[in-house]
Amino acid sequence: MATYDYDLYVIGGGSGGVRAARMSAGFGARVALAESYRLGGTCVIRGCVPKKLLVYASHFAEEFEDAAGYGWTVGARSFSWPALIAAKDREIARLEGVYRGLLEKAGVTIHVGQARLLDAHTVEVAGQRHTAAHILIATGGRPQVPAMPGAELGFTSNEAFHLPELPRRVAILGGGYIAVEFAGIFNGLGSEVVLAYRGPEFLRGFDDDVRHFLHAEIEKKGVRVLLNAPPLAIARRADGALDLALGGQPPQAVDAVMFATGRVPNTQGLGLEPAGVALTASGAVRVDAASRSSVPHIYAVGDVTQRIALTPVAIREGAAVAATLYGGKPATADHADVPTAVFSQPPVGTVGLTEAQAVARYGTVEAYQTDFRAMKHTLSGRQERTLMKLIVDAATQRVVGAHMVGADAPEIIQGIGIAVKAGLTKADFDATVGIHPTAAEEFVTLREKKVVRSAA
Ligand code: NDP
Repeated sequence: MATYDYDLYVIGGGSGGVRAARMSAGFGARVALAESYRLGGTCVIRGCVPKKLLVYASHFAEEFEDAAGYGWTVGARSFSWPALIAAKDREIARLEGVYRGLLEKAGVTIHVGQARLLDAHTVEVAGQRHTAAHILIATGGRPQVPAMPGAELGFTSNEAFHLPELPRRVAILGGGYIAVEFAGIFNGLGSEVVLAYRGPEFLRGFDDDVRHFLHAEIEKKGVRVLLNAPPLAIARRADGALDLALGGQPPQAVDAVMFATGRVPNTQGLGLEPAGVALTASGAVRVDAASRSSVPHIYAVGDVTQRIALTPVAIREGAAVAATLYGGKPATADHADVPTAVFSQPPVGTVGLTEAQAVARYGTVEAYQTDFRAMKHTLSGRQERTLMKLIVDAATQRVVGAHMVGADAPEIIQGIGIAVKAGLTKADFDATVGIHPTAAEEFVTLREKKVVRSAA
């Protein structure tokens, strides 16, 4: 039998790769991990974590305003972008250290540098060759910028976390998670924000009521939303500002343009295809349910596989690979009913099917919906509203989807997600006593039903 330097070689030190490496080492495997940038990956270094810190920061503006309705007089206030970025950077550096410590404690060898496959068992990093029985590709993804004149004048989420200053006027292009999250961040921090999306409504794939409701709430907060407005070109004006040309709209004068136009898998230059690893048409590693590529001893997890681009999913996939290879327990990650949140302002929480998806799958569904002004805003005077919606399969009465737009939606939907995952019925929801006074209690008191049948 061939002998290798390592049992497992992991390429990529993000959420999926680190989990697989640690767990495999814990099972006794000899593991190495290569990372070319910083340990922690997109989520920790330039994604979920710094993004959420910026969301917290931007929320204070409203908190100061809302305090007045409760008798507070808040004195003069000012905001320092450099101070926020420096504080965020300190926290990210701390977390990176935590990741390094966890890997080292588990006995994982860390190699710094860009890795590529020389053949199906050999990885080269920083001029050194390493062989391994198994290889895990966990290289994540990166922002994609459409080809258009002046595209180089814009920035992406990678740079957003290190802008030298807060832009006074910023246009955000795109209509996915990143676009609506950054629209809220910049708006809350005081920028004038225009969100330009090429389609008829942003957050394609989310429940239509959620999309329209969030649209209205975002506009109430002052974000200008332009729909059916594909980006065409960016040009620098003599005064230093930017002219953004959009389809169907007059040119927009802004100081900065952010591309939030999707992400692509990091598979270029890895030597995957010469090693026999098949890619999809969009360049992702093609894998089966066990995250195994077309080469049986090479696996891939996380964003590089373009399945569900969420950190907890990548972690599950990485854990399943480790359990399968070294834990004596063949495992697959479950991709059904994955709860997710958009940290927009207000945030969205969702689990299970949208109304349209449920109708397509079950034929007849019952939709329960309410929207209301949260108690906090009776005194704050803020006109923000909250939306809650349950989708029930009419035949079985199972709750197959739960959606919320409003304060704490991500926290609330995490709990509701357990009930949906467990296949509980509307009667089970109704049998649960609410916690009063909360917004969440509405999920167990929804009464007004709309029956929706498929047209077919
Ligand atoms: P998404 O894929 O969610 O959205 C990309 C957006 O860009 C879509 O609105 C898309 O439009 C638009 N777009 C794509 N190409 C072009 C183009 N050429 N011109 C104009 N618009 C374009 O990507 P994100 O980058 O926002 O996020 C990537 C993924 O990362 C998410 O899907 C999510 O899985 C994950 N993520 C999760 C977060 C969370 O959990 N809170 C936060 C951030 C990211 P269209 O709809 O028409 O295709």
